[in-house]
Amino acid sequence: MQNLEAFRELINTPKKIVITTHFKPDADALGSALGLAGYLRKKGHHITVITPSDYPKFLFWMPNNEEVINYEDYKLRGKSNKLIAEADIIFCLDFSALSRIEAMADPVKQSDAIKVMIDHHTFPEDFAQFSYHDTKAAATAQLIFQLIVLLGDESLLDVAICECLYAGIMTDTGSFRHPSTTPAVHRIVADIMEIGVNTNLIHRRIYDSTTAERLNFLGYVLSEKLVILPEYRVAYFTVTEEELKRFNSQTGDTEGIVNYGLQIEGVVMSVIIVDRPEAVKMSFRSVEEFAVNQIASKYFSGGGHKNASGGKTSGIGLEATVEKFIGILPEYQAELLAVPI
Ligand code: 5GP
Ligand code: MN
Repeated sequence: MQNLEAFRELINTPKKIVITTHFKPDADALGSALGLAGYLRKKGHHITVITPSDYPKFLFWMPNNEEVINYEDYKLRGKSNKLIAEADIIFCLDFSALSRIEAMADPVKQSDAIKVMIDHHTFPEDFAQFSYHDTKAAATAQLIFQLIVLLGDESLLDVAICECLYAGIMTDTGSFRHPSTTPAVHRIVADIMEIGVNTNLIHRRIYDSTTAERLNFLGYVLSEKLVILPEYRVAYFTVTEEELKRFNSQTGDTEGIVNYGLQIEGVVMSVIIVDRPEAVKMSFRSVEEFAVNQIASKYFSGGGHKNASGGKTSGIGLEATVEKFIGILPEYQAELLAVPI
């Protein structure tokens, strides 16, 4: 972090702090927020975590989850806006473009609070007075861990904090298989295990806590909705609003399905296109040098990492989104075929 000394000074006296993270937080977003909250509470600050939306049930086990305010909760909207307006500091975690907090963007922008951005996504916007940004970091949770160590506060790390941070590192590295998994990541995890986190338990809480209904949905999408375009080395899935309803799909139920496309030998890019009420949402995954964040930002108002990105279309519907996606593939064909597999 640049200005580490000024940052240390800033958090040296008790402050009113709001911590937020991106819309539809994943384990890294929520784990970073609750891990940082646990640390800052020990430093004597008043902390509120406000998420721009709800998030999957498989994250509810995180310590202090019950204190998180969902900004979409209209009964609490006044309270949320007051907390944001009156905060001394607002931490923005696991995102670096204000558009990613949707309706919270305006109140956060308008607040006089000092903004601190901690993130590992590409192309950060310049909206924060303090930033700790590293696109090479495997997870924002890794940056939170490193920041606490940089501040000389490793003695404040405890099981509750580290459970949250471990969840972020484990999921964003795809359980330590993505190329972002460096020796530094394994060293941090070794420290986390020594602090006493039961890593096997965290893994099971996240990955082995599904419902039969969700497994049926997964089976249906894999068997009925997979399209392979061998000439492009692309696999994609589509999910309609009717299918989401039919399988009683909950927030988080489509997460991870996109990764199955990459299990097919020869596939370089996998995409899932889901017709959600608010927009047609897309998740992109790729291998090696093929950069999906380019496609997500150029054509689908999104972005993310080289090998994992998200995007959306609005107003054109599912079918036209699929057509648009297929229409851009010739532009990338040479690049897709050049990837070593
Ligand atoms: P997912 O496919 O899991 O929704 O997202 C994959 C990655 O891309 C995550 O790191 C996520 O934060 C990022 N991402 C998803 N949607 C967007 C978006 O609209 N804009 C940007 N910049 N990143 C996104
Ligand atoms: Mn992340």
